[in-house]
Amino acid sequence: MKHYKIRQDRDLCVGCGRCQMLCPDNWEIDDDDYKAKPKKEIIDENEYQINQQVADECPVQCIKLEEVDSDDDDDEDDD
Ligand code: SF4
Repeated sequence: MKHYKIRQDRDLCVGCGRCQMLCPDNWEIDDDDYKAKPKKEIIDENEYQINQQVADECPVQCIKLEEVDSDDDDDEDDD
């Protein structure tokens, strides 16, 4: 299964909340600085589509998804 890393330039985030509205499973607004952050930085292909939609609809385009190598099929290290 493919995996993707979410890269977000938080300096650019304007805290509009669109990402959280589209994908509350993986995006939340941080109470400290009122900017968004992903709950998980590594996502699998089942989560790719909605997170790519988030990236596409972010008004400042501060989110990128990058495919990462996943030769390691061992999912035990989930902490
Ligand atoms: S959609 Fe973009 S600018 Fe808006 S809160 Fe999310 S990351 Fe920040």
